[in-house]
Amino acid sequence: MTQQLDTNINKANSYLARFQNQTLGHYINGEWTLGSEGETFDNLTPTDNTSLGKVVKGSAEDVNQACLAAEKAFTEWAAISGAERRKILHKLADKIEERAEEIALVESMDCGQPLRFMRQAAVRGAANFRFFADKSPEAKNGLSLHQDNHTNYTIRTPIGPVGVITPWNTPFMLSTWKIAPALAAGCTVVHKPAEFSPLTAAILAECAEEAGLPAGVWNMVNGFGEVAGKALTEHKAIKAVAFVGETVTGSMIQAQGAPTLKRVHFELGGKNPVIVFDDADFDRALDAVVFMIYSLNGQRCTSSSRLLIQSGIKPKFIEALKQRVENLQVGHPLDPQTEVGPLVHQSHYNKVLSYMDFAEQDGATIAVGGRALPEMGNGNYLTPTLFTEADNTMRVAKEEIFGPVLTAIEFDTEQQALQIANDTDYGLSGYIWTRDTGRAMRMATHVEAGMIWVNSENNRNLPSPFGGVKMSGVGRDGGDWSFDFYMETKNICIAHDTHNVPSLGK
Ligand code: NAD
Repeated sequence: MTQQLDTNINKANSYLARFQNQTLGHYINGEWTLGSEGETFDNLTPTDNTSLGKVVKGSAEDVNQACLAAEKAFTEWAAISGAERRKILHKLADKIEERAEEIALVESMDCGQPLRFMRQAAVRGAANFRFFADKSPEAKNGLSLHQDNHTNYTIRTPIGPVGVITPWNTPFMLSTWKIAPALAAGCTVVHKPAEFSPLTAAILAECAEEAGLPAGVWNMVNGFGEVAGKALTEHKAIKAVAFVGETVTGSMIQAQGAPTLKRVHFELGGKNPVIVFDDADFDRALDAVVFMIYSLNGQRCTSSSRLLIQSGIKPKFIEALKQRVENLQVGHPLDPQTEVGPLVHQSHYNKVLSYMDFAEQDGATIAVGGRALPEMGNGNYLTPTLFTEADNTMRVAKEEIFGPVLTAIEFDTEQQALQIANDTDYGLSGYIWTRDTGRAMRMATHVEAGMIWVNSENNRNLPSPFGGVKMSGVGRDGGDWSFDFYMETKNICIAHDTHNVPSLGK
């Protein structure tokens, strides 16, 4: 064990001790509670599958209490000025920054993401709050639309209490990404974090409390999707649900929310193509291809899990890629050297490993990796994996694996690249590598995805729209798009007293 790893583990243990010594409950109406039933589950660390402590399984009644608290707090929170909300949200960001190291260490141990990436979790979380804090004062602003005899203007009002349901892949950052605009818009929130990674959601709720958010504005209920998540999506007080997770869960939530006509925003799965043409900048494309599937353990919605490689550079590119994948450092998430850590949970780990068999059955070549790493102990470790000689009909090319696993598919022409890229149910992101501007423009227009990056890995710009098409999502986040979701738009039409009002019954 390196000295740095040793130090990090000791620090992490000091932060984790409180979760091990007491059951983690819910945060409802400004109070921590063990809920109505007190049933618990063990929260396991992917590093060795030992327990990091017990967590309360939220019941429908717990969710009900949280929703009623959010409903009660809504009127007051919606009425305070944008300037005041801005102040509180900046304070919340300060609190997150003060606890950045704790958040990074706890998050890494809870979900297995290497510390080198999780160090950014708190920084990006705080940035989300600062960005939307500054937008708070303008949230209500609308448009002014003139006609000859009338002037229309729109105003926006917060939609009401909202439900936020998040996954385990980058839990802290994703939660802030949803909750920050909701609060900035004037909505109150009930958050249901993922059952596989509940710890940093508790820290986030503490930061909110320390920042002085009034009781009931922010509520957090732990537990499983089928009970707590479902109850949240069905609750009458909840006007909208922002959900990040699997496509199939999204469709369940749509059905669950239908009787109460929930507005929904979904960020779902992907099978995103990275298309590398012969004329691409070889070294930059190689770096980006490796980064976009093997960072964050491949558990990233925008990961480019399908490499579409043009036949001219294929042999050289695949050879270089193989070497890079073989060199990736698999290890404990708190080791600063680690590039790929353990997968979040045994059930997910087994799912990812099952694709090694599917690849062989369907006739792909396992060029690198393809196996579990039991020699690393009881954690969910596996070798970063590269499948080559694949075609787009294979399961490894069609299904979201959500691990450090890349499927390479050869193409000859631009037309063929486009056809393969679009031959998927998903449409979250696409990456195009070429020095030919015209081709980049054509591909960017025709690849079916909510977001395209040309000659770049995923680069996030908070004011830009984020979201997917097809089975990858409904709606957009980012900048004003977030306010469109969390707010109602009202049109007000005023006459100039110059038109003829229809006059009946004279
Ligand atoms: P998941 O759908 O299994 O769970 C996500 C959340 O939904 C959890 O909190 C879970 O408890 C809850 N849930 C489950 N069933 C529910 C139900 N019936 N009603 C209400 N809530 C329910 O997803 P996951 O396995 O935690 O996360 C991985 C998935 O998330 C991947 O598919 C990934 O692509 C996707 N993801 C998408 C984006 C994006 O921006 N598009 C970002 C990150 C992750």
